[in-house]
Amino acid sequence: MEGPMAECLVCKNKMDWLVSFPNGRSVYKCRRCGLRSLLPLAEEEERKSFYDRDEYYKEEIADLHNDLVYSYRVDAPIIKLYRKHIKNLIFLKAAPARLLEIGCARGVFLDLAKKNEYEVSGIEMNSYAVNYAKEKFGLNVEKKSIEELDTKACLFDIIVALDVIEHLLNPKLLLEKSRGLLKPGGILLIGTPNSRSLINWVAESAALLTNSSYYYPLYRFYGKAVEHLNIFNPYNLDILAKEFYFQKIKSYLYNIPLNNMCNVNILQRLMIGILSTNPYEFVSIFKKTD
Ligand SMILES: [Zn+2]
Repeated sequence: MEGPMAECLVCKNKMDWLVSFPNGRSVYKCRRCGLRSLLPLAEEEERKSFYDRDEYYKEEIADLHNDLVYSYRVDAPIIKLYRKHIKNLIFLKAAPARLLEIGCARGVFLDLAKKNEYEVSGIEMNSYAVNYAKEKFGLNVEKKSIEELDTKACLFDIIVALDVIEHLLNPKLLLEKSRGLLKPGGILLIGTPNSRSLINWVAESAALLTNSSYYYPLYRFYGKAVEHLNIFNPYNLDILAKEFYFQKIKSYLYNIPLNNMCNVNILQRLMIGILSTNPYEFVSIFKKTD
């Protein structure tokens, strides 16, 4: 069942095959830094059309990313989480400052940043989400992929990418483009799933111990083995960022609140609740150095 040899994109070490999914993709794990990669990769054009569908935001990730429902409820878990990110940004670089969000979805985080006096703009690949952000929040959002970002000038004080890097065919592009777009001393905040989380450990163990037959939890963790192409941890994201002269300032664990998921039964909800006591995502905040 073992697939082709794979090389870690962070530390260039050998990756071992771990688990295969029915769609033909497999998870590989780096022997040294622990990066997980989903291989083989899809074509760029295939991915562009995958993300640019209305139902992507309206249905498929509606459970996880239902920030819209709560966008004006200050006590909603997702809004509290966004406020935590913004509080950390204010501490490092308060307004007036220019903030770019890469992959800004429907613009809820950007709207909150704008309410905190930041001058905000965003890029997003999904047409429906771009129009929503413009019409609902009046935001300056462009339909653009990260590949299309022009980095000729250092324009921004802060760049935010929440749950983006794990989706990229080339994760280094996020660091490279951010380096080009940030002013000297600029701040980069990246949020992404953590391979060193209890949920990943349990899901991986279940798949490994059953020789991939109980693969479903891991399959979900990888966005149905389509979306999440690389699962980092705070250690190897730091190595990748250093390659582009970013210095880590701060890192913290967090959950995208799962208590709103509706298409799971009570038992699954209970399991998710227990496993989520250990946060399954992390944020690292970096500073651009010379
Ligand atoms: Zn590695």
